[in-house]
Amino acid sequence: MKYCTECLVPDTKPHAVFDARGVCSTCEAHRLKNQWLTGIDWKARASEFGAAVQEAKTDGKPSGGSRS
Ligand SMILES: [Zn+2]
Repeated sequence: MKYCTECLVPDTKPHAVFDARGVCSTCEAHRLKNQWLTGIDWKARASEFGAAVQEAKTDGKPSGGSRS
């Protein structure tokens, strides 16, 4: 019997697929998910959000002088 080298799930688990390193598909999916999560540039997102807020504040203000 073969076991996942990371989580030790046996290859008798239904639908278990192992890659060349002996890692099961569940561990691989988990690794990809974490990679995606840590790949987010939160600082860039924060400045993008700040810019959007500034834009909304500027555009949302009643100009006051356009009533004629
Ligand atoms: Zn695994």
